[in-house]
Amino acid sequence: MAPADPPKWITFGPIKVRVKDDDATLRKRERSHGEALMGVFVADECEIALCPTLQDQQRRSVLLHECLHALVDQTALDGDLLAGEAQEQLVSRLTPALLDMLRRNPELVAYLCSMTENKDERSWTHYAS
Ligand SMILES: [Zn+2]
Repeated sequence: MAPADPPKWITFGPIKVRVKDDDATLRKRERSHGEALMGVFVADECEIALCPTLQDQQRRSVLLHECLHALVDQTALDGDLLAGEAQEQLVSRLTPALLDMLRRNPELVAYLCSMTENKDERSWTHYAS
């Protein structure tokens, strides 16, 4: 049975990001962002804030979208190659394609995730550099 709620924590290499419904954070970010947000990755606070009223499928898509922002941040791509609107376009286009690929290929997901005994953070460092 599919989990109804997202995980409370997601690990990105050396950092753990809290996932929570957080309307106050979204409203605060909307004021500086200039448009309505359904989710946001707040790097400084290691948090992904989700809109509490998101429907089930939309919640999954928004969470993946914010995870991609977190990966861009953690791989330092946001500083040069993927700042601002370029990052938003990439993340927005990749999210539905990646989610669809993951859903259609559970054997691929199982295969990719089967090396869980390798928790060596050097592989993340290598990936990020
Ligand atoms: Zn975004």
